Amino acid sequence: MSVRNNLLNIRKSVPPHVKLIAVSKTMPESVIMEAYAAGQRAFGENKAQEMSAKQPHLPADCEWHFIGHLQTNKVKYIAPFVQMIHSVDSYKLLHEINKQAAKHNRIIPCLLQFYIAEEESKFGLDRAEAEELFKTLMDNPLDNILIAGVMGMATFTENMQQVRKEFANLRNIFEWLKKTYFADKESFKEISMGMTGDYLVAIEEGSTMVRIGSAIFGERNYK
Ligand SMILES: *Cc1c(COP(=O)(O)O)cnc(C)c1O
Repeated sequence: MSVRNNLLNIRKSVPPHVKLIAVSKTMPESVIMEAYAAGQRAFGENKAQEMSAKQPHLPADCEWHFIGHLQTNKVKYIAPFVQMIHSVDSYKLLHEINKQAAKHNRIIPCLLQFYIAEEESKFGLDRAEAEELFKTLMDNPLDNILIAGVMGMATFTENMQQVRKEFANLRNIFEWLKKTYFADKESFKEISMGMTGDYLVAIEEGSTMVRIGSAIFGERNYK
């Protein structure tokens, strides 16, 4: 199967209100260009330096979504061009994104990453941490970031009932934040959930952005 055919097939199962992000991490520019030629514009990367190295070599109308763990000292590499940062899990990181965005006269849309899986993971907020973050944010507002929604990763399992429960939990978190902090803000609207193995379930549970890598580009070779 070609990248083009993979994309055409996936698009058939992704409704128009859900944005498809092609996760191009580890993929060379030539392969990303195959997706571009098939009309794909939104790409996802999980390493700041890899993303900033690729971006200048690809067409300017590509949208770059950062989806991996982001260290504060790496924000500067992506701040000039990143379309959205899906993986914000602390006020400290938001503060740094705000600072780097201001340098480029930008407002960077960010999603708050929540920890919804059963697996051990260092990344993602829980509800109490989110409340804490919003408390800090209300006392110290940041003008160069925009919180546009939430992101999460389900447990890596074949048990789709479990995955569905975790996605439903993320949707509940989204509704709670919307009601509590963003009732009058239309810009808080994204739920980034769903990858190759679980995106159909994610869409059923209310996803607005799916992040799909291997189903488009094939298996990744990590060196
Ligand atoms: C790699 C990655 C994806 C895509 O994974 P696939 O299973 O290849 O579709 C999605 N989200 C995040 C955060 C990732 O790191």
